[in-house]
Order: sequence, then C-alpha cells, then structure tokens
Amino acid sequence: MNSKDIRSTFLNFFRDKKHKIVPSAPMVIKDDPTLMFTNAGMNQFKEFFLGINTPADRRVTDTQKCLRVSGKHNDLEEVGKDTYHHTMFEMLGNWSFGDYFKKEAIEWAWELLTEVYKIDKDRLYISVFEGSDDDDKLTLDQEAFDLWKTIVPEDRILMGDKKDNFWEMGDQGPCGPCSEIHVDLRSDEERQKVSGASLVNQDHPLVVEIWNLVFIQYNRKADGRLEPLPEKHVDTGMGFERLCMVLQGKQSNYDTDVFTPLIAEISKITNKTYGKDEQVDIAIRVIADHIRAVSFAIADGQLPSNTGAGYVIRRILRRAIRYGFTYLDTQEAFMYKLVGKLTSQMGEAYPELKEQEQLVTNVVKEEEHAFLRTLEQGLQLLDNMIAGMKGKVMDGRKAFELYDTFGFPIDLTALILEEKGYSLDAEGFDEAMQEQKSRSKKASVVTKGDWTVLSDDKEQEFVGYDTLEADVKLVKYRKLSSKKEGDHYQMVFNLTPFYAEGGGQVGDQGVLTSAKGDKIRIADTRKENNEIVHIASELPADLQATYHASVDLQKRRLTARNHTATHLLHQALREVLGSHVEQKGSAVHAKGLRFDFSHFAKMTEEEIARVEAFVNERIEEQLPLKEQRAIPMEKALQEGAIALFGEKYGDAVRTVRFGDSMELCGGTHVQNTAEIWQFKITSEGGIAAGIRRIEAITSQAVKEYYRKTGEELQAVKEALKNAKDPVKAVVSLQDENSRLKKELEGLQKDKAKQLRSELLGELAEVNGTHFLARKVDLDAGAIKDLAFEMGQQYDDLFLLLASEQNGKAVLSCYISKPLVASKELNAGTIVRELGKYIQGGGGGQPFFATAGGKNPDGIAEALEAAKQYID
Ligand code: ATP
Ligand code: MG
Repeated sequence: MNSKDIRSTFLNFFRDKKHKIVPSAPMVIKDDPTLMFTNAGMNQFKEFFLGINTPADRRVTDTQKCLRVSGKHNDLEEVGKDTYHHTMFEMLGNWSFGDYFKKEAIEWAWELLTEVYKIDKDRLYISVFEGSDDDDKLTLDQEAFDLWKTIVPEDRILMGDKKDNFWEMGDQGPCGPCSEIHVDLRSDEERQKVSGASLVNQDHPLVVEIWNLVFIQYNRKADGRLEPLPEKHVDTGMGFERLCMVLQGKQSNYDTDVFTPLIAEISKITNKTYGKDEQVDIAIRVIADHIRAVSFAIADGQLPSNTGAGYVIRRILRRAIRYGFTYLDTQEAFMYKLVGKLTSQMGEAYPELKEQEQLVTNVVKEEEHAFLRTLEQGLQLLDNMIAGMKGKVMDGRKAFELYDTFGFPIDLTALILEEKGYSLDAEGFDEAMQEQKSRSKKASVVTKGDWTVLSDDKEQEFVGYDTLEADVKLVKYRKLSSKKEGDHYQMVFNLTPFYAEGGGQVGDQGVLTSAKGDKIRIADTRKENNEIVHIASELPADLQATYHASVDLQKRRLTARNHTATHLLHQALREVLGSHVEQKGSAVHAKGLRFDFSHFAKMTEEEIARVEAFVNERIEEQLPLKEQRAIPMEKALQEGAIALFGEKYGDAVRTVRFGDSMELCGGTHVQNTAEIWQFKITSEGGIAAGIRRIEAITSQAVKEYYRKTGEELQAVKEALKNAKDPVKAVVSLQDENSRLKKELEGLQKDKAKQLRSELLGELAEVNGTHFLARKVDLDAGAIKDLAFEMGQQYDDLFLLLASEQNGKAVLSCYISKPLVASKELNAGTIVRELGKYIQGGGGGQPFFATAGGKNPDGIAEALEAAKQYID
C-alpha cells in the first residue's frame, strides 16, 4: 500500500464508523499563549475536552500536522539519529467527545490494524496504565485491561508506568491514562531469541509504538491536582510515517515512500549515497526531515526569525544546514532545491504548500545564505580563539559566547577543536547556558492560578460587532503573576462587547462600571481556548454584581478604520501587483496598520501611488459594509472570500465585504468606507526573502500627517525668505552651494601651495639640518600634509609648526628619518616636552608627532625652545 492509500484507508475506516472527516489544523498556533506548535492531534479540540464549547460532531477523524520541537514534547535531538522520530509528522486520529469510550476505541483500533491493514497479530503488543502511588494516587486501568483481554492473549498486555501510559499535553490541561499499541518488526529468528515484550518502550528501533489510545478523563490543574472531567473522551494518535514503515515492510520510516523521493534528491544534489556510512546517513535523514518541518511552517505563515516560534524554525533549519556542512560537504545553499520535490509529493494533500512553493523556496534559500555566512565568520573567529589559547582546553564560556552571539553551533565548535587536537570545557559551556536560561526564565515566568468558576455559562457571546456597551456578569476568573507585569487577573463574562486580539487586530480596552460607580479598567482582551478573556489589574469588588462594560470608543473606531483599510490594501495589492500576493501577517491598531505580503521585488514609486489611489477610490465610493455571520466555510469560499493559509477557521465563518473586497474575517470594521476619510502609505520595505511590508495610516493620523507636512513646508518657505517656488529655490541654492564648494577647494589649494613656497624660502641651515619653527594658519590635517610634502624634498628637515584654532594650540613636529637616526631625535619626546608651554601633551612616532594644549599664548615660547634640539 502506498502512503496515500494508507492515509485514506484510515480516514474512510472511521468515516464508516460515523466519524466526520475534518481538515488538519495549522501546525503553527497563533492565538494560544500555552503552545507554539501543534504537538498532537488533540490540540485543536482542547476546548471540547475542557467543556468550554460543544462540538458540532461528537465523532471526528483526521490527519494532523504535528511538530515536536519545543515544550513538553521535544524530539529534536533524536531526529536523524534514530529512524522513527521526526520533527514534523502526521498524526492519524479518531475522537469521541463525550460519545463512545474505551470499548469502541480499543475494538476499532484492533479491527483496523489486524483486519483492514492486516498486520500480523503476533507482532503486536499492548500496554495498559498500571497506576501510580505518587500524589495523584491513580489505580490500574482495569477497564482497559479487561477489554484488551478479550482480544489479545494476556502475555501480550504489558503494564506501563506514568511516563509511558498517562498522556498529558502540557503542565496543565486535559489528560488521562492511555493504552499504547507497539509493533515488533524484527526477524523471526531474533524474535525467537529475545521476546518482544521485553523490548517494548526500551527505545529499540524495531520495536516501536505506533498508536496511542488516550482516555481523557481528567484536567490537570495549576496546583498539580487532577480533577475529573464532567464527560469522558477518546483521543487517539497514530504516527502516519511509522504506520507506513510497518505496512510497507520497512525497518525505517525513511525507507518508506514518504521519504525515499526526498532522500534520492538529497543524494543527487550532494553526491552522497544513502546507506553506506552512518554519519552521512544521519545527516541525510536530518535534512530530509527538517526540510519538511521548515517548509510546512513557512507555508503556515511562520517565517524564520529571532524570537519565539520563528526562532524555533530558524534553529531547525540551521541544524540541517550544519549537518550538511559538516557531513555532506555542502558549502553552498542547497536545501531550497528540495522544496520542489516535497511539494510534488505532498502538495496535493496540503495545498498550502503547493500555492506557496516559490515563497518557501526563497525564504529557505535566503536563510541558508545568511547562516553559511555566519558559519564562515564563526570558523574564522574560532580559528583566532584557538590561536590565542594557552592550554589545550577551550574555555566553555568563550565557546558559549560564540554560540550565543553568532549562533555558532556548539557541536561544531567541539568537532573542530577535536580535529585540531584540542578539547572543549563542556561543563563550563553548560553552566553558561544554564545561567542564561534561568535569567531569561525568571524574567518571563508567568504563574497561572486555577479558574474560579462562578456560574455555568457555556454560551458566552461576543456582542461587540453591534454594540460597544453591555451589561455583563462575571462567569469565571483567575489570577496571574509574573515578575514583569506583576499580579493581574483574567476574567470571562457571560457576554461581552470587547473584541479579543486576533486576525492581526489588537484587543479592545475599556472600563467596567458598577451600579455604585466603581470602575475597573480593562487593559487588554485576548482569546484562550476560544474564550474571550479580559485582563485587568484588579477584580470587581462584588463578583456577583452586574457591571456595565464599555469599550474605549475612540480607540475602537480608529482601529476599525485601519482594519477596513487593511482589506482594501490587500485587494489593491492583488489588483496592482498580481494575484500572487498573499497576506503574510498584519497588525491593526488605533494608530495605524502594518501589512506583510509575498511579492518578489521592491515596489516602485508608481506602484505605491497606484495602490494608494486604488484604496482612496474605494473610500470615495462610500462602500457599505456587507457582512455575513456564521455561514458555512464552503459557501463563503464559493462566493469568493479570501481565506488565509495557516489560519484556523471554524465550520461557520464570518465574511466581510466592501465592494469587491471579500475576506473571511472576525475583526471589527467601519459601517461605510467613507469613515476612513483618507489612506496614506508611510513606508514600504522588505522584511525577508520575498516578503514585503507596508505601513500605512488613515483618518485622524492622515490629518495629523498633512498638518505636520504643511508646517514643515511653511518653515522651509520661511527659511527661503518666502520664495514663490520653494522647490526651485532649493535647487538653485544647491547649485550655488556646489559651485562655491568647488571654488573654495581651488582657493585652499592655492593657499597651501603659496604657503609651502613661503616656508621653503624660510628654511634655515642650522647644524647640518634644514630647520624651521613657526606659526601657520592651517588645521592639523593640512599641516601634516604640508610637512610630509616638504619632507619629500629634504632628508635633513626639522620642522616645528604651530597653529591656533578655536582657542586651542597644536604643535606638529616633523623630523626626516635619516635625522632621527643620526641625531637620535624623537618627535614624540619633543612634542611632549614642548607641550608644557601650551599646557598640554601629545605624542606620535619618532618622525612625526603632535601635541595639543589649551594655552595658545605659549606658542611663541615653544617655537623658541625648538632650536635647542639641534643645537
Ligand atoms: P515515543 O515514545 O515513540 O516517542 P510518544 O509516546 O511520544 O512516542 P504519543 O505522544 O503517544 O507518542 O504520540 C502518538 C503517536 O504518534 C505515537 O504512537 C507515534 O506513532 C507517533 N509519534 C510520536 N512522536 C513522534 C515523532 N517524533 N515522529 C513520528 N511519529 C511520532
Ligand atoms: Mg515521544
């Protein structure tokens, strides 16, 4: 079975068991403060497990793009070294939200594996949670054990501890005991010798877990306690690539048709054969794996960057480049060449990849170039450091500097040191790393309390499209503390007019007012697990009372104008530049807007003007808002609404339309484009390969912009003595200025020439030298030039030239080199000694030195004293 069929067989099997097939959620998570990347199929359904929302379908199946490179689930260091862990992988899953439980989950899993996929039953092992005697006091999962006993011989059911058989997504959240299914892929001979049961969960590459059936029945609270959930759920996850390995009779995920085309391409490009040398093989696997993770992340809208999720992606890409550099001798960018192959292979199942192939290619290429430059610089720095080393061991802190400041990989440092016969103080490096980690952790740690629930209200509504005021009641709240922001509170209300940050638009601010007149300021509004969370530095005095919530009208109004302008800008860019323009990010707030988009060249002045004009025409047309709430996604797309890749949309979506601009959008907008008044682009520039950024302003900010520009122009006119045509006046001033500059330069040259012949005439022959000490009217630079020119004519010259500038004195002494030697003179010593007359000091070389001082009155004495040196 090829991988495509394996995938569809899974989905169809569960569809036939009344599951709805749903698409994968984005791999990059945008609006969840607790998680950067999807690390399991269940993430997108968290709100259902927690009982915050009710799902439309109680049985669901899908294949989910997952990334395990940070947080609780981090497999990065394993990847490439073993043959069955990836950074990005697909997780096949089936879900029950308060519907079926252990019995069906177990029976169906067995049916699919043994009857549909026809995996040999003798190769399968089951694990069941044995319980724990720690604070959780959990007992053996007897129910699962009994269910399995009816299908599998008892000696194939193994007891598993908390580490393997109690699944948790993170430090907090839904969790529960699980049953894993493992498969033994070893030869019959080896299976005879050593029982598979003894190898389960022992990191054996051929005895691996393929499927995990999780029985979600608890919520892990902030204080570590487990709380039973009101409903029980099933959450299963099967690694697609591992399943392919089993069904295609391979012993490594990389030998399946998911990876072989990529590996063949890497071999072709690098001229290295896969399967001959373990170190080379690891590098090839790392590259084949990482190019997938990075490409999917970029297609999901996450560009490599220096912070947060972007930094994680940059690190993954750099790890691959580094493996290539060290083990495959790739000195030049090459990974970008793999994107085409990946797209042809996976573009059908994941259209976001196909649509953005060019962008992904460019971004990867640019990153590769940049990192290869870093590597080169780092290698040079490392060489210098090695040259300056006293002993044979490199200081760990020095190596950390190289890593921290230049992004130079520590394993590469160690490798190079070893090659040159040195070693690294790894402990010192770890220490420096730990110190830095705890420093940044201390600064950013936020401790979250548990939610205190005051009333049960699942149907929390957003009423802020229609009104900015509402009477609200607190449903739940919790306390957050962090060093940076101090204590603050998060509150959820039964309904709210406050817009939660999302889709690029900032969260609303405003106030709550009680009947008695107490006021509480809402500083920000965000979304968490699909709930609207209000942030304030204090709680209402009376938690049960009704409060009047009002959104800051002015901020919201300005923000809405900028949001609508963003849609018009998007439309204008596609109109003027072409339909390849994809939105890559946006920030909409009261002061202005920022819009990032894919486009390969700098926009010309003319294009910018056309885009601006296009938007302003839409404003002048006074287009009314046409909005559809809660229409099926399919219908919206059919009607031509633009949806963004990497955005998570529900089944029912909202469309926002102004004339021909139609987008899926949850943001707040003006009622009519006329409210925007004017649109002005303030900057256009590149932020990454193939990504441009426009910043723009509307309404009030444009007024302010014009007022300031007017004022500046007025000031310029005044400075130009109220010239009728200021532009003409400035141009003629500039012309005059450059003419005068030229003239001045000529005059100065003449003056220097004249002075030189004057000085030459004054040279006196003293004691076998040509001697002159006098004051001149030149600056220090010109004096130096003059002295060196005169020095070319005589090789027995002694000059002491003094000048006075801005109330300060400068002495310059020039002595021909032969004189320096024959008379043992030193210009440096001389100016230092003469410096006392001008109350200063200085120095330089034996043949030329200068001294500066604050007493020009001493110049005459200094000149007088110069003669003694040759007398
Ligand atoms: P392992 O112990 O092998 O790391 P796990 O316990 O971390 O697996 P789960 O969190 O239960 O795995 O994930 C469910 C399934 O997803 C696993 O049974 C496995 O098939 C697959 N899987 C997990 N991690 C990876 C990975 N890094 N790469 C590929 N597949 C994975
Ligand atoms: Mg794991």
